[in-house]
Amino acid sequence: MKIYAKELKQHLNEEIEFSGFVDSIRDLQWVQFIILRDSTGKVQVTIEKSEEKNKELVDLVSSLPVESTVKVTGKLLDSPKVKLNGMELIPTNIEITSKSNNELPFNYKKIDGVNLDTRLDYRFIDLRSDANILLFQVQSLLVKYIREYLYQNDFTEIHTPKFIATASESGAEVFEVKYFDNKAYLAQSPQFYKQMAMASGFSKIFEVAPCFRAENSNTSRHATEFTSFDVEFSYIDSYEDVMNLEAEMLTYALTKVKEEYGTKIKETFGEEIIVPTLPFPVMKLSDVYQELETRYNYKVAPEEKTDLTTEAERLVYKLAKEKFNHEFMFVVDYPADKRAFYHMRDENGTLQGYDLIWRGVEITSGAQREHRYEQICANAESKGLKEDVKFYLEFFKYGCPPHGGFAIGVDRLTMLLLNINSIKETEFLFRGPSRLTP
Ligand code: ATP
Repeated sequence: MKIYAKELKQHLNEEIEFSGFVDSIRDLQWVQFIILRDSTGKVQVTIEKSEEKNKELVDLVSSLPVESTVKVTGKLLDSPKVKLNGMELIPTNIEITSKSNNELPFNYKKIDGVNLDTRLDYRFIDLRSDANILLFQVQSLLVKYIREYLYQNDFTEIHTPKFIATASESGAEVFEVKYFDNKAYLAQSPQFYKQMAMASGFSKIFEVAPCFRAENSNTSRHATEFTSFDVEFSYIDSYEDVMNLEAEMLTYALTKVKEEYGTKIKETFGEEIIVPTLPFPVMKLSDVYQELETRYNYKVAPEEKTDLTTEAERLVYKLAKEKFNHEFMFVVDYPADKRAFYHMRDENGTLQGYDLIWRGVEITSGAQREHRYEQICANAESKGLKEDVKFYLEFFKYGCPPHGGFAIGVDRLTMLLLNINSIKETEFLFRGPSRLTP
């Protein structure tokens, strides 16, 4: 019977079959120890050299390169003296299912000093490390629990097209692709289609999908393709309903991730998962700048105060901790002219939306959307977009409930959760201005 590492404990003193990578081999005078691993853990295989029946196995192991894959059959013994989980597998047969080259391009177990580009060039090897396997298990769990929260709250998952005829927000930042005899673009967000779902009466929807942005920037938190968790729902009274839902959703997911992986995350990444308290603190953009100046002497020119600078985002983390003893902060009251035309503004032109800052980085933009036909047309017109987004404006002509939503980047979220330096390491395969392979 094929057993995975994490199930081994239930099969002590049984004949089992274990398949995995050869993690390491210690070939001593009297005994060979082979450590095998699969994505759920490791096990020691022990071969006594003095036993005649083991001769073939000993020969095979002495020329076996690490990182080969094998299928081992044998008896699993309870052996308290064995450091690795107090058990060992005594093989009767070892089949090499694939042989690794002796020289790896780099040692993925000691990455200090290894160039990140080399690691990304050989990402399939880089991902073999215990830390990377854990990282993607955690990311998967994070997505699972965000999804779970949304399902529990009657959201429907939808799948919107990524080929689009016009850019969603403005002419900038989209990739153009050849589409038979025409041009198409890769969606930079599912914004228009999320809102179409509201006009279709879906009430509550979400999507987890790739977004493409032609941003030629090499920062630690931007990628040209990333995975976005997009949420939209109807019958809201204000953008505060959107903030509240998002705060609850994140609290739910972080609670669950901590329960399942908190200890492992602490051991591997040294990071404590802090489950936030509700409600999350909220501050106006202008008040944030004022406090950053009085508390930390951080000053910026007035024209920069229409958005948070990267440094201001970093300081917001400090402020959130000192002022509210919180890791998150919602920032509201952005000037509307800096934001997309589909965001609702109040009669003073103040944006009915927010950014959410976590650990010094923006992880979300959210807002109540403009759902009134005349107003959304006027907004589009003022940005010179009316013709480009004609199909979208139609969505609001035949009844569309008040609605709002947000988008949260999964890769950025993982980076902040585990205190990883760069988004390049939290995307399974990073895509950036100068990286399209592997
Ligand atoms: P930023 O100001 O950081 O470039 P943005 O304002 O363009 O972000 P939005 O369009 O509001 O971002 O996207 C919502 C969320 O999607 C962001 O908060 C972030 O989590 C994620 N995101 C946006 N752009 C990128 C990107 N290039 N790479 C990775 N994640 C991104």
